Amino acid sequence: MAELLDVVVVGGGIMGSCSAYHMAKAGLKPTVLEQFSEGHSRGSSHGQSRIIRYAHGDATYLPIMKESYELWEELERASGKTLLKKCGLLWVSSSEASVRSCSRILEKFGIEHHLLRGEQIQEEFPQFRYGDKWFGLVDPEGGVVYADRCLKAAHKEAIEHGAEFRFGEKVTKIESRGDRVVVVAGEAIYEARNVVVTVGGWLNEVLPGIKDVVDVQAEQIGVMYWKVARNAELYGPTGNCPTVAVEEAGKIMYMLPPVDYSNQIKFCYHAGEPIDPNRPLAEMPAYAHQIPLEHISNHLPDIDASKPSTIDRCLYTMTKDSHYAIGRYPSDARIVVAGGFSGSGFKLAITVGRIVKDLVKGVEESHTVPELFRITRKRVEQRCMVGGVPEGATL
Ligand SMILES: Cc1cc2nc3c(=O)[nH]c(=O)nc-3n(C[C@H](O)[C@H](O)[C@H](O)COP(=O)(O)OP(=O)(O)OC[C@H]3O[C@@H](n4cnc5c(N)ncnc54)[C@H](O)[C@@H]3O)c2cc1C
Repeated sequence: MAELLDVVVVGGGIMGSCSAYHMAKAGLKPTVLEQFSEGHSRGSSHGQSRIIRYAHGDATYLPIMKESYELWEELERASGKTLLKKCGLLWVSSSEASVRSCSRILEKFGIEHHLLRGEQIQEEFPQFRYGDKWFGLVDPEGGVVYADRCLKAAHKEAIEHGAEFRFGEKVTKIESRGDRVVVVAGEAIYEARNVVVTVGGWLNEVLPGIKDVVDVQAEQIGVMYWKVARNAELYGPTGNCPTVAVEEAGKIMYMLPPVDYSNQIKFCYHAGEPIDPNRPLAEMPAYAHQIPLEHISNHLPDIDASKPSTIDRCLYTMTKDSHYAIGRYPSDARIVVAGGFSGSGFKLAITVGRIVKDLVKGVEESHTVPELFRITRKRVEQRCMVGGVPEGATL
């Protein structure tokens, strides 16, 4: 019989790495199995930047974001690396109801923010042109989370506390057997007291039974970068350039200042093409660049909107309601799942890791997983990022 491991983590993206970090710090010995090589770019956690923000359309996210800021800062101190840049988040919307609803939530949690309308946006941020029909909310604590540095830091700190990472190990089967859970990865067989499944877009493949409880779909996203053609200083380190979330008539887009590529902003449409993650598309359909292109042409005068200067690929794992799926697997409570991060999970991965650690340590699900994220919750179909209120809703 194989050695009985404390916990096997399947998937070494940001969720698996942060889970391993917390579990190792709590005295467990996690073994992380990752199908690809270290630092690969075929999942969701690669690249240098993601948006971090307090501004959310659902109050559930606020306490979790407070904890995430604290935990990222703790990881910054432990790793000696800068992981966050608080350059602010500007949320612009064509729906006043949406912005005001977010403002009420921030107020309730005592989070500093302010509202802008139309030309006030360009007075504060000269990079943009928005007319009377636009509403803005500024979340000064928002900004950039340095994704690649976070992944490396979580990985390194997890190893320092006793975790082991094995790359090139594709898990093909997870099976409950008596007092243990058996994990098959090619020729290798692992046996563990607990298994954590953090496999992003591969969730339906790794745990086929998950379909009975939660509907997740992998989507390919075209990550578009655009050249700054004029006033480059406004986008540089001293240019007061915020990260941006845009809601325009039901479409969601987002922007980050140049981080990944010099003098190129990231500006993307928050929607993609359903795919099998083992068979990525060679090219995204035209809407992936046409929708950002139109918005950039109308509202970002310094950017060359003729075409994206660079296009990368990334995976979303969408749930029906765009909220997450965290909890114990119904048919075997020793298997913990954290998935369905719907294109917005990076910023709070460090708290997801803490929740996973609690579940593995036997904490009641109702004490650690917010209702909105439980695997077994009721879902309504909606696509949201900042969780906006539909246009025309009463204030
Ligand atoms: C374009 C884009 C923009 C985004 N912007 C933001 C943002 O601004 N802010 C934010 O907070 N979030 C953002 N996100 C979301 C965030 O990046 C994801 O929620 C997060 O990275 C998900 O991490 P994960 O660990 O669940 O998935 P992944 O990073 O995909 O990790 C899963 C891992 O499991 C491995 N795996 C799968 N199957 C197996 C198997 N059988 N055996 C072994 N290993 C396996 C995979 O290879 C992969 O490495 C964005 C995502 C994308 C794609």
